[in-house]
Amino acid sequence: MVVTRSETQTGAQTGAVQNSSEGWKQQPPYRTTEGDEGFEKKWTAHCHCGRVRYWLSRDGPLASKFCHCVDCQALHGAPFQWAAIFHKEDLRFESGAEGLAFYHAPDKSTTHRLPCKVSCAYCHAPIMDEGRNMVLMFPGIIKFSDAEHKKLFDPQCHIFYSQRVVDIHDGKPKWSKLDGKSELMKEVEREGSNTILGEPKNENMQD
Ligand SMILES: [Zn+2]
Ligand SMILES: [Zn+2]
Repeated sequence: MVVTRSETQTGAQTGAVQNSSEGWKQQPPYRTTEGDEGFEKKWTAHCHCGRVRYWLSRDGPLASKFCHCVDCQALHGAPFQWAAIFHKEDLRFESGAEGLAFYHAPDKSTTHRLPCKVSCAYCHAPIMDEGRNMVLMFPGIIKFSDAEHKKLFDPQCHIFYSQRVVDIHDGKPKWSKLDGKSELMKEVEREGSNTILGEPKNENMQD
């Protein structure tokens, strides 16, 4: 999901700092952990080439979603996108803003203007969407300690499901656009398929 303009406006009071030259580089999430004893490094993640590394100080996200919007399809080269929401305070980059590339979708500029998409400037692996107050991390690069930790990142719902390229049969709420602010969509019945995730259904095991 590309963070909308309305979120930009709700965080307007912080705009002075964000907009003044390079001030944002000293703010979370770009502030490094150096001299920040209060920040607990719980989990780490790094991009595909390893040049960008960050830490999370929370066990799991505030929420997690799959976004099926056409912007995510175009910008991620994938049928849908997996995003986990954190406060900016929950995140620190090892090298601050160094090595990161930014993309502000509303005017298609590559300066750091919120909301923006953040990726590795070298391997271009998507890192997060940065809004005014929150970040939507892409958990594919997080180094999960075990299955239980990964479970904390399980999405609660699907958003922009009306723009999907594939039907999902997981029983989770499917919103036509933003969750809580659009219509809930009925899950499409599975037709003539005997498979779930490539594995035979139990009742067909004897066939
Ligand atoms: Zn999206
Ligand atoms: Zn990289």
